[in-house]
Amino acid sequence: MAGTTEIAWTDATFNPWWGCTKVGPGCDHCYAEAFDKRVGGDHWGKGSSPRILSDSYWHKPLRWQRQAEKACEPRKVFCGSMCDWADKNAPADERGRLWQLIRDTPMLRWQMLTKRAPNISKLLPHNWGSGYDNVWLGVTIENRKHGLRRLDVLREIPAKVRFLSIEPLLEDLCEIDLTGIHWVIVGGESGGGFRKMEKTWVENVIHQCREQDVAMFFKQWGGTSRNKGGNLLNGYEIKEWPRV
Ligand code: SF4
Repeated sequence: MAGTTEIAWTDATFNPWWGCTKVGPGCDHCYAEAFDKRVGGDHWGKGSSPRILSDSYWHKPLRWQRQAEKACEPRKVFCGSMCDWADKNAPADERGRLWQLIRDTPMLRWQMLTKRAPNISKLLPHNWGSGYDNVWLGVTIENRKHGLRRLDVLREIPAKVRFLSIEPLLEDLCEIDLTGIHWVIVGGESGGGFRKMEKTWVENVIHQCREQDVAMFFKQWGGTSRNKGGNLLNGYEIKEWPRV
């Protein structure tokens, strides 16, 4: 499929806009902000304006939809590698346009991830009902203090799939209640100044996924570069998908 990505748990990425503001320690080394700066942008932080994308860019998912229809195979799209879709400061017109695009592409599985869990229910479309069939709603968890309250908000929101992106995992999460969660992604941080993830922290999450019958995807160990530490745990890949 056109628009492929290096993110192992999806098939493509789509960004309704570029730009965001940091909201927690998981944002400290925001790769999106660094990339934006590298290409000459200035779309991060309070007071900055988002980058609006062209109509031709917005047409891409419609092309992916046709390809998925032809192949009779749904495709996953991560929405927001360069933004947070639930950022209240984001352009409202673009978010409305995004929901329409999602309705127009039923063969795409939209993976909507946010660190702004309290905003989710306010920003869902009026006809959300028990959740769109083609939307997976997720929150990021980097530590207990910031992450677990997002999890508590998420589990109360109707959705066909609820998922956690535990990345970068910055500490042992100890006991976590995965009630209402269908899928968990775990990964370590990568890039200069990365914060090391301990194996016991990962094993603890996996153990609880197994006990609570939740699908699990181990993305990467992290390190100075994305592929530095690989993605094997005790010699094996773990790549499970939500059972829907
Ligand atoms: S929420 Fe995501 S995109 Fe926004 S600053 Fe944090 S890491 Fe970056």
